[in-house]
Amino acid sequence: MSAPHITPSFPSRLPHVGTTIFTVMSALAAKHQAINLGQGFPDFPCDRELISTVNEAMLNNHNQYPPMIGVADLRHGIGQKIQKLYGHHYDPESEITVTAGGTQGILTTILACVSPGDEVVIIEPAYDSYRPSIELAGGKTIAVALEAVRDANGQVTTYNIPWDALAKAIHSKTRLLIINTPHNPTGMVWQKEDLDRLADLLKNTSTLIVSDEVYEHMVFDGAKHHSVASHPALAARSFLISSFGKTYHVTGWKVGYVAAPASMTAEFRKVHQFNVFAVNTPMQYGLASYLSEASHYLNLPAFYQAKRDFFRAGLEKTQFKMLPTPGTYFQCVDYSALGIPEAKLPEAEFCKWLTTEVGVAAIPVSAFYEQATESGVIRFCFAKQEQTLASALQRLQTL
Ligand code: GLN
Repeated sequence: MSAPHITPSFPSRLPHVGTTIFTVMSALAAKHQAINLGQGFPDFPCDRELISTVNEAMLNNHNQYPPMIGVADLRHGIGQKIQKLYGHHYDPESEITVTAGGTQGILTTILACVSPGDEVVIIEPAYDSYRPSIELAGGKTIAVALEAVRDANGQVTTYNIPWDALAKAIHSKTRLLIINTPHNPTGMVWQKEDLDRLADLLKNTSTLIVSDEVYEHMVFDGAKHHSVASHPALAARSFLISSFGKTYHVTGWKVGYVAAPASMTAEFRKVHQFNVFAVNTPMQYGLASYLSEASHYLNLPAFYQAKRDFFRAGLEKTQFKMLPTPGTYFQCVDYSALGIPEAKLPEAEFCKWLTTEVGVAAIPVSAFYEQATESGVIRFCFAKQEQTLASALQRLQTL
């Protein structure tokens, strides 16, 4: 009798990590046929013209490896767009790299510049990929908390950047600070004064910045997105991350980019080439020709503001308390005052219940913290057709 084949066990590189909450909630929503307002993605189609430009690229035989750093036309288009919107010139040859989405851009950046023992400061609530990415690099995460400003009823009215905590956290060993504006999940948007203050805080340090700006075109009520690219002192030390999936309603295409000064980009590309090598060719050609028409992204604030306002008007008729949404396509709500026993559940449990019993999936905000901080707040994504939002609202209005 031959010996049984044994699969060796090995120490986990990420022992505390399970499956990302976005995947978990989407699977649960699918299983229970719930309306999925959890994971952030549109339920409406992208522009047919964008599909045509990709089809054309395929038919024109753009189906082999592209340059490792990205298709030249796309990098030039990105450079022109950043220059036009934020006034900073990135050299497409040495400072812009096309990535397989924002998340890969972030991981690759962290692997490229964080050495074992280096400290990386993040601001919680923080997107769930930051911490494991730092851990894979052997870095140490230092989390500071975004400050919630509350009114007399205890309702959050706005968020402040925790400047004092940041000043304490950042010192000579801080390799990287990760910022995110517009911010997932709170929708908080950095102001010009915030960028000035950050530049001041970092001026005598060698701390680099990862600026996650994937929601750059979702800023509402006439406000502006303030990119690190609009601030020369910050641009000089930042990896700017963005995503075509968010901007053009194609989250499944997984195409984004990282722009950074040449010396930083050179290190980024050393890792990128052995991480994904390159990003799929026809989509890069398709995006390159689509990108040249500015209206495709200039219309986005109005487009998403209408959805936000529609969703908020419906939420007014529920017992949920809405948090402000100056940016992103996420609406956070406080459920702790709902007059039902489930209002006492922790956020993750409440989201499961809402998905399976009410038929609407959401994301617990506790998933954006290392030590699950329970504040009775969950996140809905309103990047949905009006009909989808209306059906979800109908269900939420029964609570
Ligand atoms: N950024 C998206 C969100 O917050 C999720 C992306 C993902 O699932 N990887 O919902």
